[in-house]
Amino acid sequence: MKNNQRKVNTFVLLLVIIFSVILLGATVLVYTNYLDEIRSQASTKADLYTADDIRLLDAEIAEGISLAKQVANKLNGISNRDDVAVTLRSLRNDSTFDSVAFCRFFADGREYGQFGTVYSMERENVSRMNGTNVARCCGLVPDREWNTNTIAFYAPILSGYADGVVLFLPADTFSSFVQEANAADAALARVAVFADGEGETLAIFHKDDDVVLSVHNNIYDYLTNQINEKSTIDSLKNDLVYERSASYQATVYSEDCIVSIGTAKSGGGLSIIALYTVETLCKSSFQLINAILGILIMVFAILIFTGTFVLITRKVAEKKRLEASLMDPVLNCPTRIKFERDAAPVLEKNKNSKFAVVVSEIKHFQYIQEYFGQPVAEESLKFISMVFSKMLQVDELYGYEGDGTFLLLLHYRERESVTKRLQTVSGLAYNHKGLLPERYHLELSGGVYETTEGNYSTIAKMIDNAYEACTSANVVEVGDYKFFTETIRSSNLQNADIEIRQESALANGEFVVVYQPKYNIKQDKPDGCEVLVRWFDPEKREYRSPGLFMPLFEANGFVVKLDHYVFETVLKYISEAVELGSVLYPVSVNVSRVTAAQPDFLSFYINLKNKYGIRDHFITLEFTESVAYENFDMLKLMTEELHANGFYCSIDDFGSGYSSYNTLKELQMDEIKLDSFFIKRGTSFDRDMAILQSVISLAKKLGMKVTQEGVETHDEMDLLRKLGCDVVQGYHYSKPLFLSDYVQFISDPNKSSGRNRGNF
Ligand code: C2E
Ligand code: CA
Ligand code: CA
Repeated sequence: MKNNQRKVNTFVLLLVIIFSVILLGATVLVYTNYLDEIRSQASTKADLYTADDIRLLDAEIAEGISLAKQVANKLNGISNRDDVAVTLRSLRNDSTFDSVAFCRFFADGREYGQFGTVYSMERENVSRMNGTNVARCCGLVPDREWNTNTIAFYAPILSGYADGVVLFLPADTFSSFVQEANAADAALARVAVFADGEGETLAIFHKDDDVVLSVHNNIYDYLTNQINEKSTIDSLKNDLVYERSASYQATVYSEDCIVSIGTAKSGGGLSIIALYTVETLCKSSFQLINAILGILIMVFAILIFTGTFVLITRKVAEKKRLEASLMDPVLNCPTRIKFERDAAPVLEKNKNSKFAVVVSEIKHFQYIQEYFGQPVAEESLKFISMVFSKMLQVDELYGYEGDGTFLLLLHYRERESVTKRLQTVSGLAYNHKGLLPERYHLELSGGVYETTEGNYSTIAKMIDNAYEACTSANVVEVGDYKFFTETIRSSNLQNADIEIRQESALANGEFVVVYQPKYNIKQDKPDGCEVLVRWFDPEKREYRSPGLFMPLFEANGFVVKLDHYVFETVLKYISEAVELGSVLYPVSVNVSRVTAAQPDFLSFYINLKNKYGIRDHFITLEFTESVAYENFDMLKLMTEELHANGFYCSIDDFGSGYSSYNTLKELQMDEIKLDSFFIKRGTSFDRDMAILQSVISLAKKLGMKVTQEGVETHDEMDLLRKLGCDVVQGYHYSKPLFLSDYVQFISDPNKSSGRNRGNF
């Protein structure tokens, strides 16, 4: 689920990135294309505006020419110089000529002022204005002396003293239409100038402040300072000289601009040069493009925000996940992940010390969970967790793996110190009541891996080894803990070998059934036998005892087939003995907890007994305590059913693990078989005797036969007799025997003692 979420997040992030890149690329492409389009639109617009301006300029020029003509009319027919001057002066009082700055006239190839004074105007200017019969604009007249800008208009005089008249109108008058145009076209122009072919400017009007530049300013110089592209200036010069209309794109002060030129048609060489920024020309397009850009930037921002958000939430979730994976939420103690993480540096730091890696599990934890409930299980776990946490010394660790299993990293000096500490914890666990039912005790067991100095494999491998020790059969066992030894490795190989050979061994009759006689010490007579299995290895020509293969068969389930085989072998023997009329005693058969758990367990044993026609109460089935423990109710039902079908039932190995008086009381067993540890002289012998005494008397009260296993000496037998035990089984009376020996043994037990017979 979490994994899927991560995949989706990565996918979304990838989409966002791809989408952003595409969007960016598309934006750049569209923008550049659109900009080109806008530029050409801007050029067209600029040309239109300039054309409009030229029309206005032409109208102004026509006006100027008309004024000049009117003055010429007034001077027409005046035959002397003084009168011409007087008439010219009188124009000052005529409002029609208000816009005229000053005027002059020509006669005899010379230029005269309003007072009839001769002016020393440059010849070329004079010739430019005089000598034609057509009224016209003479163009720009920069007066360097006065630093003024005027435009001159010439009109011929038909008769009289003067040949023609020139009116000078100030440039300001002409500027007005540019300003009007600016206003009308929403402040379009940045700069507008009148210029002649040589680039002499009449005026340069700035959109912003209407500055009129000095006449000394040459438009070429002005533009060269501003426009980077030299070719543009060259084209502009040409167009001005040849009075052509044109427009150029240019970058002025890093702004995208259009330079547009138009020349007045009415002569005088007057041109307009307008400098527009593309943005002002195409305001709406730019607004559009800006709006689109704005939206794109917003989308971008959202995408980046989303991406960052996804990344951050992912990081946070990851961190949370990591934290959660490090501490167990219920026990609030380190998990295996954290245990492993913390262990590595501890081992590294203490390279010259030895450690024990311990796997410690609460026995039957699943049972506790299922039968006593989760709160009880949790309370037990918390208790064990607390005990482990308190027992830790410097540079020691513990963690919870799950399913009732804890991991420990403990300092190691010798095996005894570790086992002592583990036993202390086991003792505390055993005596802990918590929420557990009265009859129940918490028990711990597990595996230990001992590190060798300075030679550490990974902590994970060490834990594996400790686990392996838990499940291995032939390992050193101290208390409830098994120690990993190198023999585990070889025994694993042996196990593999056994598993490969088990089926063929059964088919080839390699499993041999042996019979260990039992002796009734109260009545001083044989009490039948227990059948036990051996595996004859034809290669090594030796018998293997059940301890070498039974745990493996219980783990892989083969024990079911083997138990069935042993049971049928016994039935065959009994039915044959009955047929032959031989001496016969009851027989006890072991039933593994795995066999007992089979759904067809009862039907198989009952049907087979019936098939061989074995009479009732001749066969006892032995169940180990663990069967009672693992499925108490089931065993109760089973014993009832077995009783109903003529079987006796026995509880085997009583006292070895899950002893409970309740088991005795509730399960209607016919026999109780006491584990040999009761009679072996250990550290707490007196205590064991007391328990033995009370178990025997309780069993007697409940009407059960008491059998003691593993009786090896006469003293033990005497003691048991005194304590009221019924039956003994052990080497003292007889070792397990082959069938033929057993038959002989029971036919005359006094003669043929089984002692030291056979090799079992
Ligand atoms: P168990 O049922 O408790 O059998 C008694 C064990 O004690 C036998 O070990 C027997 O040889 C041994 N024994 C008897 N008297 C003495 C004695 O005086 N001193 C000592 N030290 N040992 C004595 P064995 O035959 O090695 O069997 C071991 C276990 O294997 C059995 O314990 C039983 O749990 C299991 N087993 C044996 N045969 C079968 C079988 O056919 N089916 C099943 N399910 N389990 C079997
Ligand atoms: Ca047994
Ligand atoms: Ca036993």
